[in-house]
Amino acid sequence: MEKAKKRQFGIIATIVLAAVIVLGLMWATATAKKNQEHQDTLARVEKLGRIVWGVKADTKLFGLMDTKTGVSKGFDVDIAKALTVQLSKQTGVPMSAEFVPVSSSSKIQLLKNTNIDGTVSTMTITPEREKIIDFTKQYFDAGQSILVKKDSGIKSIKDMNDSKYTIIVVVGTTAAEETKKFAPKAKLLAVQDYATGMQALKAGQGQAMSTDNAILYGFATENPDYQIVGGTFTHGPYGIAFDNDQGPMIRETNKALATLKKNGVYNKLIKKWFSNVPGLDWHELEAK
Ligand code: GLU
Repeated sequence: MEKAKKRQFGIIATIVLAAVIVLGLMWATATAKKNQEHQDTLARVEKLGRIVWGVKADTKLFGLMDTKTGVSKGFDVDIAKALTVQLSKQTGVPMSAEFVPVSSSSKIQLLKNTNIDGTVSTMTITPEREKIIDFTKQYFDAGQSILVKKDSGIKSIKDMNDSKYTIIVVVGTTAAEETKKFAPKAKLLAVQDYATGMQALKAGQGQAMSTDNAILYGFATENPDYQIVGGTFTHGPYGIAFDNDQGPMIRETNKALATLKKNGVYNKLIKKWFSNVPGLDWHELEAK
């Protein structure tokens, strides 16, 4: 009797243990799958049938929010739309494009939090950024320059290397880091976005605003009293960015980008956004 009870207990204990092991394994597999979806951007966008792109809201020509509709318009937004169409074709999974406004300083964190899947936002490929996020091949060529009042007498960044000058930059941009190297004696005024920067420039809080030439062209066209001077003093090509370790997404996006350059879509968008910008030779921007 005693023996039989012990055996019965042994059998029950074995069943309970086996059940615990099976449940544990099921839980571990489910968690691993969830983590993989979290990490694998391509798998995530295919599963959800949409790509959430971070685009600028304060950057004319690339991503400027239309205050009536709340939707950004610009070259970056159109590139993101065209990429989504091409990625849908390539993968055979229909996907829609959704847009979330990002600022110069928020984009990396939004990628990390998966609030956005990718970003097309005038983002310069730099070795520091490449340590924490992934970039595609370059989709646009740019370099840093300065925007000044036409009668300022300032002809280049070199002229500004004097403590009597203040240069306005936007927090989180490459210009916020680079400007000091080219005009170490000048003061810097760091603002949150370009609209504030332009206001500060007009109010005389600084004598120049500095960022990529391509971005400054957007302001020069709207503000005829201001001009870009001295050409570019850095080289900073733009890449489409994803979180780090996104090999499959990067490969597919590079392939999609190459197709857009070959089939004329890229050049059509270059013409749409840059052919009417005074002082800019838009043919130089075309994919050859
Ligand atoms: N290309 C610059 C950068 O990546 C400016 C970008 C921006 O204005 O957000 O920092």
